[in-house]
Amino acid sequence: MSDPSRPPGPRIIAVANQKGGVGKTTTAINLGAALAEQGHRVLLIDLDPQGNASTGLGLTVAERRYTTYDLILDEAELSDVIHETTTANLWIAPSTTDLSSADIELVANEKRSFLLYDALRQPDMDQFAFDYVLIDCPPSLSLLTVNALVASHSVLVPLQSEFFALEGLSQLMLTVRQVRDSANPNLRIEGIVLTMFDGRNNLSQMVEEDARETLGEMVFDTIVPRNVRLSEAPSYAIPVLQYDSRSKGAEAYRALAQEIVGRHTETTR
Ligand code: ADP
Ligand code: MG
Repeated sequence: MSDPSRPPGPRIIAVANQKGGVGKTTTAINLGAALAEQGHRVLLIDLDPQGNASTGLGLTVAERRYTTYDLILDEAELSDVIHETTTANLWIAPSTTDLSSADIELVANEKRSFLLYDALRQPDMDQFAFDYVLIDCPPSLSLLTVNALVASHSVLVPLQSEFFALEGLSQLMLTVRQVRDSANPNLRIEGIVLTMFDGRNNLSQMVEEDARETLGEMVFDTIVPRNVRLSEAPSYAIPVLQYDSRSKGAEAYRALAQEIVGRHTETTR
């Protein structure tokens, strides 16, 4: 599975699922924090107009002078958009509700699918020396999500351990195929991670069985349990790894980070 054509630079991963509330933002923040903790330089791009990742990492709206909107639509410089966070090695490009008009504005733009791709390949990017870029996508298959898929090497899909979880997946996969057939033939599936898993609940176990049976190796070994610490951490504006370092949620995202990094070193050998 090695990809010798992949240029040096960060590995860019879109965290996507058109369903809301499945754990995209929680995964983007905490996987990002876990990779950062393991010594990687990580940029999180908030591509959701709701700005939950920005808030969850402690950026007040007043601090968001330049946002991903400016990055995509006004060719703002990365260095103006990127902020440090309280987590070492973790940076964020924030969003605000401005981004909700982006979809409409993008339609009229000739390069509408490639704007984030271009933004992430600014010469400026080199100086940050990021190892990973995670893109927190909005809950839709809009042009914003297409921009993320075009700009990325791979897509990571959080799947909520509940009934109908697999239903929406075929639509996402169709979009992935369309992006492959047009703008980004090398787009891979990074993997599918089960989230909000409740071991006491038969339904959770059935979803896991179903997912492993139909999706096979695409499903990460790591499962993110339902863990109240994960839902509390954003209100303290820090990742769960800082809020409660020994919690089940923190441990799960550390394991996920290791699994992802492990897969990469395997495939690049
Ligand atoms: P999305 O970005 O896909 O809309 P979020 O990451 O915002 O989803 O998660 C939706 C809600 O569920 C949030 O309130 C979040 O705190 C909570 N949540 C996410 N993952 C977990 C988990 N593993 N355990 C408990 N709560 C979670
Ligand atoms: Mg979200």
